[in-house]
Amino acid sequence: MPNENQNGRKVLLDIKGVKQYFPVKKTKFREKQRYVRANDGIDLEIYEGETLGLVGESGCGKSTFGRTILQLYPQTHGDIIYYKDGKPIDLKKQSAEEMRVLRKDLQLIFQDPYSSLNPRMTVGQIIGEGLTSHGIFKKGDPAMKEYIFQIMEECGLATYMFNRYPHQFSGGQRQRIGIARSLALRPKFVVCDEAVSALDVSIQSQILNLLSDLREKAGLTYLFITHDLSVVKYISDRIGVMYLGNMVELAPAEELFANTLHPYTEALLSAIPTTEEDSGRERILLEGDIPSPVNPPSGCKFHTRCRYCQEKCKQEVPEWHDVGGGHYLACHFPLDKKKG
Ligand code: SF4
Repeated sequence: MPNENQNGRKVLLDIKGVKQYFPVKKTKFREKQRYVRANDGIDLEIYEGETLGLVGESGCGKSTFGRTILQLYPQTHGDIIYYKDGKPIDLKKQSAEEMRVLRKDLQLIFQDPYSSLNPRMTVGQIIGEGLTSHGIFKKGDPAMKEYIFQIMEECGLATYMFNRYPHQFSGGQRQRIGIARSLALRPKFVVCDEAVSALDVSIQSQILNLLSDLREKAGLTYLFITHDLSVVKYISDRIGVMYLGNMVELAPAEELFANTLHPYTEALLSAIPTTEEDSGRERILLEGDIPSPVNPPSGCKFHTRCRYCQEKCKQEVPEWHDVGGGHYLACHFPLDKKKG
């Protein structure tokens, strides 16, 4: 199979050296063109059927990365290969029309569904819009209503809500409408961008359970973006940690928690509210704000906030490498070496 990697995993998206730079407006005083380096060279394989959690503080470039994969922003550099039924498609080379067709497979669920739901459309119209624009049903086809009912039920929405408008729903229900709208297209890959961040904790777990169930049923692949590690802890197969436009650690979820190697991951983990079993864990406070992505620190970008920083860290960029067992890292002085 062309999309099988050396570990026998089927790759759905192969992301190579992706950079996303946005130009900063020039001023009278600063005429040199500068760039916001939102993504600064990311390599990542996303496997078929997995939930990949992506965490980092706000401003680290994770949402931009999700949108770049979906080609909502064409990348500045690098390649994103989507394997559709095992056949490679270079997303960068697709025309606008080819991309419009592919968008059925590659969907996005937003943090705030309310702002993305047309207030003048009913739930039935919102879910039906994509179905007709992608030619899954013809306008007026009576079978479409049956299909929308089925999707609404799958997403925990009662069918009598079909003719209601977004403002008549709670936050959790609106998120279900957003999910139903995306999943009605039977996508292959869904970016969930802070999809539960605006919801109460009890509603969060309902939506997370719903997303997990739908993944099982439809064989979906998720990229689950959040600033909150505790959200992705239970639903992710693997978790990637981003800092200032780069991936700094990536590992199977259990491995990341049991064998944390990067000082930034350690700090994020220490901020998760503790339970009795790990109440002895030290809380590491990250000092200072995330530096500017226009003028990032030299060497390891985390060195200005890392409590293990040494001279080498200020000079040399740590290489992204596999430390074994699917655990990837970019750090000169991983935590296991310090402890060992
Ligand atoms: Fe900290 Fe150095 Fe590792 Fe960067 S390379 S995370 S500064 S120890």
